[in-house]
Amino acid sequence: MHPKGHKIMVKKVFVATCLVLCFFSAQAGGYAIRIIKSGESIGLLANLYDISIGSIMRLNNLESELMYPGDKLKIPLLDATGGVSELAPSPPPGFVTHTIQAGEALSTVAKHYDISLEAIVGANPDISSLDMLPVGLELLIPPAAGLVTTIAGGTDLISLIQENHLNIRRVLDTNNIHSPNDIRTGMMVFLPEVEPTDALERLAKVREEENRYVWPVQGRITSYFGRRNLGMGTSSFHSAIDVAAPTGTPVQASRSGTVVYSGWSTRGYGNLIKVQHPGGSETWYAHNSKILVSVGDYVNQGDVIGRVGSTGLSTGPHLHFEIHEAGKAIDPLVYLR
Ligand SMILES: [Zn+2]
Repeated sequence: MHPKGHKIMVKKVFVATCLVLCFFSAQAGGYAIRIIKSGESIGLLANLYDISIGSIMRLNNLESELMYPGDKLKIPLLDATGGVSELAPSPPPGFVTHTIQAGEALSTVAKHYDISLEAIVGANPDISSLDMLPVGLELLIPPAAGLVTTIAGGTDLISLIQENHLNIRRVLDTNNIHSPNDIRTGMMVFLPEVEPTDALERLAKVREEENRYVWPVQGRITSYFGRRNLGMGTSSFHSAIDVAAPTGTPVQASRSGTVVYSGWSTRGYGNLIKVQHPGGSETWYAHNSKILVSVGDYVNQGDVIGRVGSTGLSTGPHLHFEIHEAGKAIDPLVYLR
């Protein structure tokens, strides 16, 4: 093999090993276990982790620097100032990550791991919503209830522990931290049993804002969501509720959001308005006699956006009202009670 090609390969191997090391460091604490590769020496590793050759030799009870490929070596991490400590913050011991899939809610994730919703919020206090999480979001799944806090510059761990009335030894052990001074900016520390009060309060407000739909018009429901019999053995799916109301009755935005469609629909909806809400859900208002908003307008809940009519495929004045979540129509009566 060309010597240059060989060098590149060694580098790649190191990157993979390093990721394994981070995992080990969280599990074993104090040192990482490294298997010596061909061409590696204690001097090279000491240089890589920015620690002294002596500290490696002491930890491994070595009398000679001679190493062979396949030898196991403990790398002391407490002295390290470069290498491992410069990598992205890793979650505290016992945590796993979960990536949000399409259609997955926080409550289903909690059920799957048999932990409480509060525990998930405590491990991920910065999430934007309890109900509408973006697909692909990585959540930390904690081993128990508590609060994960990210160390900011100037944080004093002892004060943080005392403010939360916790046992210092227990917090250090839980996090595999040897000394309260052994923390660094960006590091995640798990505070067992601390309730994520601030995060829960903030998320409750978000939920209220996100999930509240109100009736767009008052009136009698003339057709419900679901399959409807057309007679003669045929049926169709009605993806809305129809609410009968006199022509000209104000149609109000069911929830705050941005108008994403405003105009004639060729699909039988007549004059159609679509409003998109935080998190991506939409409300559709069809058969209007008049449209009072344009695409791009932000409307508050309760704003009059149109007037009831019978345009498009309609047999009389009514509002055909749809709610779409994740691109799919759902029964509006789930929210309108
Ligand atoms: Zn309808």
